Amino acid sequence: MNLEFKMTTEDNNKIHYLNLTLQRNNNNIELSIYRNPTDTDTTIHFQSNRPHEQKIAAFRYYINRMYTLPITENARKEEWNTIVTMAINNGYPKNIIYNLRKKLTNRKNYNETQEQRKEQSKKWTTFTYFSPMIRRITNLYKDTNIIIAFKTTNTIQQQLSIENTNRTNPNGIYKLQCNTCNRVYIGQAGRSINIRYKEHIRYIKYNNPQSAYAAHILQNRHEYGPQEETLHLLKHCHKGTWMTCWENLYTGCFTTLGHNCRR
Ligand SMILES: [Zn+2]
Repeated sequence: MNLEFKMTTEDNNKIHYLNLTLQRNNNNIELSIYRNPTDTDTTIHFQSNRPHEQKIAAFRYYINRMYTLPITENARKEEWNTIVTMAINNGYPKNIIYNLRKKLTNRKNYNETQEQRKEQSKKWTTFTYFSPMIRRITNLYKDTNIIIAFKTTNTIQQQLSIENTNRTNPNGIYKLQCNTCNRVYIGQAGRSINIRYKEHIRYIKYNNPQSAYAAHILQNRHEYGPQEETLHLLKHCHKGTWMTCWENLYTGCFTTLGHNCRR
């Protein structure tokens, strides 16, 4: 690995350091918030199926930072405009951000040590956030010493990442090709797709049209090939609703040979 160190020098009496811009004026240094030029406005969109507290966490952080860093009054105004613009660009109604600012500035007058002592006797637990309906359950814990943290299972990363695929024996959505007409069969296998392949071939050998693939080969007198040519894994996934969704998606992408049989 080649690491190259570059020195940043003062430019026009200004220098950026971490998330701050330091500007030299006569005998003073003024601070303002610095954002990278490549910074995008993107936060969790207001319409996203996420717990509200996670959605506003970024704004809570920006607002707290705006008030706790010793930046100039002008910089604070500018930062507030940036925060509001960011909120609007991500679908948030303005009043949510204004109310949040009000709440955070009022909180400073709290007797914080007393709050902290109360917090210490509480226990944290997690709930999976499927929809806002989950609060019907979690609200039952409101007056107990249990605090709920929500976790979500629907992020793009979670849906698209390939988790510990068993590469030699995968399960998921597979494609079987007909060697004669090149049409394909899309199926799902909760166990290994290799075992499913062998089952389809056994149906053909015993003249049993139990799967759509076997029926197609038998009825049309078409040919199937060896596993390396015939069988392809389309998507590794586990049995359940998601597997059916992926199967439907892939079925729509190919010219298939009729109905699938599910196993
Ligand atoms: Zn065919």
